[in-house]
Amino acid sequence: MAYQINDSCIACGACLPECPVEAISEGGIYTINADLCIDCGACAGVCPVGAPNEA
Ligand code: SF4
Ligand code: SF4
Repeated sequence: MAYQINDSCIACGACLPECPVEAISEGGIYTINADLCIDCGACAGVCPVGAPNEA
């Protein structure tokens, strides 16, 4: 299991520094490397639009 960022991402960047394993990458829509994500939920906790969700 891993979190995924959906289409509602507005690329605000808030989640990027919160990830303890640096699984998040910048982009028009930010993305999460499922191989690195440990399901901690930190990104979802800071996202203003609820884009990161458990896959
Ligand atoms: S759930 Fe945690 S480990 Fe996974 S991408 Fe979000 S902040 Fe990183
Ligand atoms: S915090 Fe939410 S809106 Fe901001 S870059 Fe991350 S996923 Fe996208």
